[in-house]
Amino acid sequence: MSKKFVYMFSEADASMKNLLGGKGANLAEMTKLGLPIPQGFTISTEACTKYYEDGELVNDAIKAEVENSLEQLEALTGKKFGDNSEPLLVSVRSGGRASMPGMMDTVLNLGLNDVAVEGFATKTGNPRFAYDSYRRFIQMFSDVVKGLPKSQFERVLDDIKETKGFESDLELSADDLKEVAEAFKALYVKHEGSEFPQDPRTQLMDAVEAVFGSWNNERAIIYRRMNDIPGSWGTAVNVQAMVFGNMGDTSGTGVAFTRDPSTGEKGIYGEYLLNAQGEDVVAGIRTPEPISRLENDMPEAYAEFMRLAIELENHYKDMQDMEFTIEDKKLYFLQTRNGKRTAQAALKIAVDLVDEGLCTKEEALMKVDPKQLDQLLHPMFDVEALAAAKIYGSALPASPGAATGQVYFNADDAVEAKKRGEAVILVRLETSPEDIEGMDAAQGILTVRGGMTSHAAVVARGMGTCCVSGCGELKIDDSAKTFTLGGKTVAEGEFMSLDGSAGNIYLESIKTVDPEISGDFGRFMGWADEVRTLKVRANADSPKDVQNAVEYGAEGVGLCRTEHMFFEGERISKMRQMIVAKTVAEREAALEELIPYQKADFKGMYIALDGKPMTVRLLDPPLHEFLPHSVEDIKELAVEMGITYEELQATVDSLHEFNPMLGHRGCRLAVTYPEIAVMQTRAIIEAAIEVTKENGLKIVPEIMIPLAGEVKELAYVKKFVVETADRIIAESGIELEYMVGTMIEIPRAALTADAIATEAEFFSFGTNDLTQMTFGYSRDDAGAFLDDYYKKSILESDPFARLDQTGVGQLVQMACEKGRSVKPGLKLGICGEHGGDPSSIEFCHNIGLDYVSCSPFRVPIARLAAAQAVLNNK
Ligand code: PEP
Ligand code: MG
Repeated sequence: MSKKFVYMFSEADASMKNLLGGKGANLAEMTKLGLPIPQGFTISTEACTKYYEDGELVNDAIKAEVENSLEQLEALTGKKFGDNSEPLLVSVRSGGRASMPGMMDTVLNLGLNDVAVEGFATKTGNPRFAYDSYRRFIQMFSDVVKGLPKSQFERVLDDIKETKGFESDLELSADDLKEVAEAFKALYVKHEGSEFPQDPRTQLMDAVEAVFGSWNNERAIIYRRMNDIPGSWGTAVNVQAMVFGNMGDTSGTGVAFTRDPSTGEKGIYGEYLLNAQGEDVVAGIRTPEPISRLENDMPEAYAEFMRLAIELENHYKDMQDMEFTIEDKKLYFLQTRNGKRTAQAALKIAVDLVDEGLCTKEEALMKVDPKQLDQLLHPMFDVEALAAAKIYGSALPASPGAATGQVYFNADDAVEAKKRGEAVILVRLETSPEDIEGMDAAQGILTVRGGMTSHAAVVARGMGTCCVSGCGELKIDDSAKTFTLGGKTVAEGEFMSLDGSAGNIYLESIKTVDPEISGDFGRFMGWADEVRTLKVRANADSPKDVQNAVEYGAEGVGLCRTEHMFFEGERISKMRQMIVAKTVAEREAALEELIPYQKADFKGMYIALDGKPMTVRLLDPPLHEFLPHSVEDIKELAVEMGITYEELQATVDSLHEFNPMLGHRGCRLAVTYPEIAVMQTRAIIEAAIEVTKENGLKIVPEIMIPLAGEVKELAYVKKFVVETADRIIAESGIELEYMVGTMIEIPRAALTADAIATEAEFFSFGTNDLTQMTFGYSRDDAGAFLDDYYKKSILESDPFARLDQTGVGQLVQMACEKGRSVKPGLKLGICGEHGGDPSSIEFCHNIGLDYVSCSPFRVPIARLAAAQAVLNNK
């Protein structure tokens, strides 16, 4: 039998999410549960993949299946698609496996044309409604399917309203709307050079292709990269019989959550609009009413909605985000899905669901996106600074948190300002998917229009970006790049602050402080710790960082980059003395002076770790990083150091490299200057001995030699480390175990890992350098061209953020296998940036690493991702 690409809602269920997308699978499931669902069918994600395989073409077999499903839908509804007197109208909506809000668009009222609209008007007895539906369809079809800017249609509509002296769309009569539809069609002809398509089947197939095509639009590609969604998944298309919320005052449409998506508080939370279609609520064009108003307006529909919403939550065992429409008092559900939520809400909901007996701890662990935990650890306003600040306005608290930054009015300017290192507040009339990069660049988002479920609110919450929405008093002057609020005018680049939890707006910069973590967090993370097997360490270089890391649950330090210890205060001048030294004796003398600093730092870190392990890496960067480069700075330093300018300039010149990343760095430094490795080993071992004696802690120092690619260079440096450590331990009179290991960050090290393992007691994968050297992309320069790679679908994600499992990952896996073939107990970890990335962490778990190490703020993310890795494999 040939493959099936199209499924009626009644033929499927929730388990078919990969094939039918989340929306399609849930519509099928709700149909199965007997909920009031306008019926329809889903064209599968495999049809989307096929569309791309066939060179962006919907093949005849799929078209035939669509035709067949249309016939079934006609039978179910008793209406005919393309009929002139009682036409079946449909909505066409995208729906991938993972929800991608706002990324791909919807066409409503499809099936109308110049003739059918007349029949529709007669049949419904409501010509105003019929023409309203038609003009909306023309606009949506033109925008979504043909890419004609929505704003041009809005301008035409505004002009007509202005000529007639109307303020609101609701004042337009049937004849006015007919005129609007004519004007819209004229606009279409002007742009497309052809008439607006009158054949419903052409309309339908064009819309289906547009949904498939939108899978690869730029916004979708950006969203996927930000959310780790593979391009190969594709999107499904849902074709559903229309029900109408714009039929008059006994109709309406809304969006609601079963728990508050900002706080997690239990209780229906939502908004609706009387006499409107779904897009009006989601797009934030009109500011909607709270759902409690529905109880007054239509008590029966409200009661039914409440009952079914709770049924859905119990069924899915998670907070639901539902869209509904009431057509002449009759309630329909158009969609349900597990709702997007803030990190605070996610934790509260997960913990509450367990306490309410709705799900197990393990199920609860799967309900929180590890990346979201980041939001919990971000700054809030300093209470006193906030109290002293003046509130100039307030609006909806759409996404919590605190943001202070400089004002920009469009996404491009926001992105540019971020590149200059500014904190950005993006101020917009309303946001749309085109703004996604600007929203991502912003610390905070403020909109004039839109409710709690508007695009700005939903997207900001998902990103964890603070957002205040629907501030109607704010007047933007686009040409002057200013806005006015509460009597004050603010220009581009000036400071303002947003309180996304209270909805308050301030026109000044306000100090922020680190957040406090709730009890839910501790409980929830405790559950993650019970499940995970992968250990989580932190990359930390100072006692303060270690303290932070331990607070967030780190089980040790996986990478202490010792070079960071040489930049502060007088240390840098001692380091420079060491670098300009001409003889070994001079260098040793300078190093001797550095020992007390290093030792004090290590002691502080060992104490903060309270017996947890710490891997210390010997000096890694090229020495010229410690010297100035401009003539003035070199002159100034020469005077400070008591040497001539020429002498210092000569040292700087001699250290110059064409390719510093591939130059004299890592263990190569210690090959040339073993005394550096000796000094650092002394500091590490002496610190451990002193803390053992003074604090009674059992410490097993882990000394890590970086950037080895050949076992002999590792052996060469290791010899100095071991001799030094053994001598100091022997003199100390106590017993101290220690380990010497290496980083695997050069492809050759991975390829020869069995040989390397003979000289190493542990491997730590430095996947930053390993990615750099495997791809041959400079870590410092790749940003400039990677964007082109995403746009052209050559890469889906930044390989420096998300481990490239097919290439770099294979080297890591191979090195693990080769290493353990020589030393079965070889300890394995990762300390590149990927150690804090959930999908990379899952890979690390799967290939049997012992631990991941990441920045302190990402430790909770890693703990949860490690637990989810276990659960995903169950
Ligand atoms: C690495 O290369 O992955 C690493 C952790 O070292 P660094 O980033 O310091 O080069
Ligand atoms: Mg490195």
